[in-house]
Amino acid sequence: MTHAGLIDRFGRVHRDLRISLTDRCSLRCTYCMPADGVPWLQRDTMLSTDELVRVARVAVEMGIEEIRLTGGEPLLRADVVDVVDRLAHLDGPAGHPEISLTTNALRLPQLASQLVDAGLTRVNVSLDTLRRDRFIELTRRDKLVETLAGIAAAEAAGLAPIKINAVAMRGVNDDEVVDLTQFCVDHGYQMRFIEQMPLDGGHTWDRHQMVTGEEILAALRARWTLTERDDRGAAPAQVWDIAGTDASVGVIASVTAPFCGTCDRVRLTADGQLRACLFAREESDLRGLLRGGCTDEVLADAIAANLRLKKPGHDIDDPGFLQPDRPMSAIGG
Ligand code: SAM
Ligand code: SF4
Repeated sequence: MTHAGLIDRFGRVHRDLRISLTDRCSLRCTYCMPADGVPWLQRDTMLSTDELVRVARVAVEMGIEEIRLTGGEPLLRADVVDVVDRLAHLDGPAGHPEISLTTNALRLPQLASQLVDAGLTRVNVSLDTLRRDRFIELTRRDKLVETLAGIAAAEAAGLAPIKINAVAMRGVNDDEVVDLTQFCVDHGYQMRFIEQMPLDGGHTWDRHQMVTGEEILAALRARWTLTERDDRGAAPAQVWDIAGTDASVGVIASVTAPFCGTCDRVRLTADGQLRACLFAREESDLRGLLRGGCTDEVLADAIAANLRLKKPGHDIDDPGFLQPDRPMSAIGG
């Protein structure tokens, strides 16, 4: 197996594998899931831990250097600590992969130290508001206190840096850009604002309602002097240092300033489908290969073939753009 399999037609080298551990979630964020009637993945279609670790092992041997666990809510997977432990022990040309997690934090008080012991190095937590009434409106659950406790537990367990993700929404939480950032400045976390993408289960995304990265920056600049960093690499976030603090703030302007040209990410869904892009309309059925008794070489070839299908960009601005059938919760954000 060679690294060549992780290079796509446009020369992008893929180093980051995002694995969705489940499509289930303990919240129902409006930009991600409908209130109810979610078409859950069938249990028997979900990859077993042996199956997902095998895909990850082959991908790491091909050159994947970072594995991010996501979902749905990845901490709802009963054996998540074991998953982290097994993934952290994989070995590739660059050594062991770095294991990180994107979570709503609700189970971090119980799990943070076990996850660190198992090999988790970094965590991103979703927190869209600091106001309880808004949290309830946004996530359809009354869990702000528990989310904040989860973030504190991640810090106490030694996870660093802690990144806080917020999707900015017009008339919902866009007046909290400064407050959320100040919360991160005060606690030593890194704030990341994300432009809302057309990936909600309810298909209600409206470009004109979307708060743009420029608007987020304008709100931040009204409060702080920002200096743009020039070490972005393949990261989705453009980051600014905040003058007078040790903190930085990032903006992920996926829609208005796409970073597809440097994308190094590929995604494995909880039901074993490989997707080279959040917005891909083609998936490769690795579950079928695994359950058909394929060799590692066949798996590696399927991963390489999937990357060859990757488009140069997501084409959200194209009049013919079609939202993927799966919502974010079933792709893995
Ligand atoms: N449940 C975990 C969480 O919320 O962090 C992990 C999964 S969630 C799908 C991963 C990330 O996707 C979160 O930061 C969430 O804010 C983001 N996300 C979900 N739907 C989105 C959308 N329509 N546009 C932009 N970001 C979205
Ligand atoms: Fe759940 Fe995360 Fe989606 Fe919110 S963004 S509904 S926490 S998967």
